Amino acid sequence: MSGADEVTENQDATASSWFGVRVHRRQFLAPDIVSLELESASGEPLPGWSAGAHVEVGFSNTISRCYSLCGDPDGGGFYRLVIHLELGGVASQLLATSMEEGTRLRIRVSKNDFVLDESAPHSLLIGGGMGVTPLIAMAYRLRRLGRSFVLHFSVRTRARAILVDEFALAFGERFELHSDDGSAGPPIDVAALVEKLPENTAVYFCGPEAFMDMVRQRATQAGVKPERLHAEAFSIRSPRP
Ligand SMILES: Cc1cc2nc3c(=O)[nH]c(=O)nc-3n(C[C@H](O)[C@H](O)[C@H](O)COP(=O)(O)OP(=O)(O)OC[C@H]3O[C@@H](n4cnc5c(N)ncnc54)[C@H](O)[C@@H]3O)c2cc1C
Repeated sequence: MSGADEVTENQDATASSWFGVRVHRRQFLAPDIVSLELESASGEPLPGWSAGAHVEVGFSNTISRCYSLCGDPDGGGFYRLVIHLELGGVASQLLATSMEEGTRLRIRVSKNDFVLDESAPHSLLIGGGMGVTPLIAMAYRLRRLGRSFVLHFSVRTRARAILVDEFALAFGERFELHSDDGSAGPPIDVAALVEKLPENTAVYFCGPEAFMDMVRQRATQAGVKPERLHAEAFSIRSPRP
C-alpha cells in the first residue's frame, strides 16, 4: 500500500472556503438527471476531499444547495456531481437551463458528515436512486484500499439506472443492480443483504426517506448494531431563499 493509500482519519473537520469552479462537462444521463464535471477556475488544484463528502454550490448570494461528490476521491482533476432535476426546484431549474460548459460557479467543500470507516473489515453500501452518489466515492476509496465491500444500487426502472456501465467496470462483482420492476436486476431484498453479515460490517445507505427507513428497519431487525449503521439524508438541505 503506498503512502497515499494508507488508511487515514477523515480530515474534513471543517468546511473549506468558497472558491471558483467552471463547468468542464455537462451531460444529461436521463432527461431529469444531469452530471456536471467541475474544474478549478483559477488553475489551482481543487481542494482534496474524502469519500462521502459533499459540496455546497452557491447559485447566487441567497441560493445554495448541497451535492455529494460522486467519483474517485483519489482521482484528482475534476469534481463530479450527479443531480436529479426536481420539478419546480429552484436549483434544479437553474441547472437545467443555465449551467452550460464554461459556466462559473462558487462552491465549497462542506464538513463531511458521512464519513467512511476505512478500517471496517467489510462494508455494505446501499443506494436508492440518486442516493447512490456518495456511495460511489466510498466504493472507489474501498477499492483503492483493497477493502472488502459490495455496492447495491436500487432503482425503480432501467431508465433510472445511471452510470451502471462505469460501476460494473470499476467494481465488477462488487456491484449489484436492483430494480423495482425487475427490468434491470431483481428488486432489492435488504433483509437478505443484512442477514449474516461478517462481524463489524459497516452499513452505509442513502436514498429517499422511505427507502432509508426500510433499510434501517431491516438492518436493526437483523441485529446490526446502531453504531455500524451510517446514513445520509438529502432532504436536509440548505434553507430555501
Ligand atoms: C448532504 C446532501 C447531499 C446531497 N446530494 C445530492 C446529490 O448528489 N444529487 C442530488 O440530486 N441531490 C442531492 N442533494 C439534494 C439537493 O441539495 C437539493 O435539495 C435538490 O437538488 C433540490 O434542490 P432544488 O433547489 O432543485 O429544489 P427546491 O427548490 O429546494 O425544492 C425541492 C422540491 O420540493 C418542492 N417544494 C419546495 N418548496 C415547496 C413548498 N413550499 N411546497 C411544496 N413543494 C415544495 C419543489 O417543487 C421540489 O420538488 C443533497 C442534499 C444534501 C443535504
